[in-house]
Amino acid sequence: MPMWEESSLVRVVPTARPRKLAKVPFVELAAGRLQGVVSSGSDVSRVYVSSVASGDFAFACRTNNNRPCGGARGGFCNHIGAMVGEAVLQYGGARVARYLQTDTADGDAAPTAQQLAAAMSAARPQQAADAQAVTGQVFARFLRHLAYLELPATTAPLPEMHWFPTAGAVA
Ligand SMILES: [Zn+2]
Repeated sequence: MPMWEESSLVRVVPTARPRKLAKVPFVELAAGRLQGVVSSGSDVSRVYVSSVASGDFAFACRTNNNRPCGGARGGFCNHIGAMVGEAVLQYGGARVARYLQTDTADGDAAPTAQQLAAAMSAARPQQAADAQAVTGQVFARFLRHLAYLELPATTAPLPEMHWFPTAGAVA
């Protein structure tokens, strides 16, 4: 068993299929949301923080500087679409559909990213009322994720991680 599998600190979910990390460096199902970080297509120094809530599909897409994404005013933008696509690669369509509670159950067939996005858009989701706060939380998780990747494999507690205010607060 590799050392990281014994660690209680880093939970690694096997990827269903290889992902394009350069386009969507971070995606996760957490805190009742599908959330992630999506690279800007035009500006390498900019990323978008995207999220969709389970159940009502309330969405948010803002830059890493917490400015609103121009494409996500009345509905899902391209960044959210890219994030859904990467989530399906990472988790499989069935798991994403269950987590988000989409109405895409069709026998045993796992929905595609297009089917998931279409089903959520059909429900006419609203922009999340707390989009700004959500963006900050997701970006903090992304930074912690990056910090984990740079740490050597170990099973020892990491005291320097304890002061992060969001640790444990975001279930
Ligand atoms: Zn966007």
